[in-house]
Amino acid sequence: MPTLTSPSPDDVPVAVVGAGAMGAGIAQVAATAGHPVALVDAATGAAEDAVARIIGSLQRLEAKGRLSSAQLEEVVERISTADTVERLPRSALVVEAVREDLATKRDLFARLARTQPADAVLATNTSSLDITAIADGIPDPARVIGLHFFNPPPVMRLVEVVRGAESGRDVLDDATELMRAWGKSPVRCTSTPGFIVNRVARPFYGEAQRMLMAGVADAATLDAALRSAGFRMGPLELTDFIGQDVNLAVGTSVWEQTDRDPRYEPTSLQQELVAAGHLGRKTGRGVYRYAADGAALGAEPDEQRLAELLEGPIETNPVARTLAMLVNEAVDLVHRGEATAADVDTAMTLGTNYPKGPIAWGREIGYAAVADQLAALDRAFPGGRYRPSPALREGQD
Ligand code: NAD
Repeated sequence: MPTLTSPSPDDVPVAVVGAGAMGAGIAQVAATAGHPVALVDAATGAAEDAVARIIGSLQRLEAKGRLSSAQLEEVVERISTADTVERLPRSALVVEAVREDLATKRDLFARLARTQPADAVLATNTSSLDITAIADGIPDPARVIGLHFFNPPPVMRLVEVVRGAESGRDVLDDATELMRAWGKSPVRCTSTPGFIVNRVARPFYGEAQRMLMAGVADAATLDAALRSAGFRMGPLELTDFIGQDVNLAVGTSVWEQTDRDPRYEPTSLQQELVAAGHLGRKTGRGVYRYAADGAALGAEPDEQRLAELLEGPIETNPVARTLAMLVNEAVDLVHRGEATAADVDTAMTLGTNYPKGPIAWGREIGYAAVADQLAALDRAFPGGRYRPSPALREGQD
């Protein structure tokens, strides 16, 4: 079996297991990059439906002039479907994108280990599960890695290449190279809760929710504050867009996996929204209420209050407080050796569209100043959430 980085993608067959939103997107990316791709799903007809969705997506690219009709045909011809995992063709890379459940994924990896060539790389697109736990129980866990694509995979350039405790360095290197060949911007990280993006982003949501609960300002004013710092959407409108339930599930998973570290504790505000079914845009109500045409109601910021907050102390300054926490989270992740500073900034600018990477932002503000801001927050709100990373005082990242 050729390596993943064989010069001809034709020689590097790819299989994708799970033909939902992510699996279909990943299959499209791989086939567009020139690989023969086989898709399989446990639900009857789901793989065929995914091929139909991929064709629709390619046709939209063709209509925009980004793909010729000949290219479209070639890409589609490279995609096949299989009835069962056992019937997948022998592949150099298998990407698993089934539902987010450890037992399901472990069972699948055991089946793949039995049926795929011994040197096939087995990758999981999990957002929140531990790569080491997924690989546990298969004979050669060195070939198991995370390839965490973002939604939608054909559009989002970021891929987190995730190292489990047993993942082979050469496997990670080859996969990183392959992601570049697919036109992606891979970053490397270890398998820790939330990887890079889903961990570092937590305070972006959590700080705004806490300020809203404390009555610092209304939602529209808090969102406007963060937009004024260059974020495309404020945290409260963004969680309404993502879905409060989806955002809470990610936050809760990180909190549980860090032994309930107060840094990640979900807010009662968000828990109550979810319990009440106020999930955001999709239910017509979340933090905001939405009109039938999708417009948020009562979304005008209080400009005078906004100006006061931005000039005010850290406890009630939405921008300074959120940035201090984002910088702290990013610096701490690098300090723990889970990713490089450059990869953290790449991940946050590409994965969440931040206007600047949090490490670069922290260097601009000054690590000592951020440490002072966190110390002030820690005094105002004791309990550990605002403890500064030791790296801030040492001036490193
Ligand atoms: P989805 O529900 O759209 O699709 C999952 C598919 O897997 C379904 O078609 C289902 O029939 C199939 N499936 C379930 N068990 C299976 C099995 N044992 N064998 C074969 N197929 C099986 O889910 P999704 O949003 O595409 O997510 C898939 C994975 O990607 C999850 O691990 C998720 O955490 C991760 N992920 C999702 C996103 C996102 O934004 N949706 C982003 C990054 C990563």
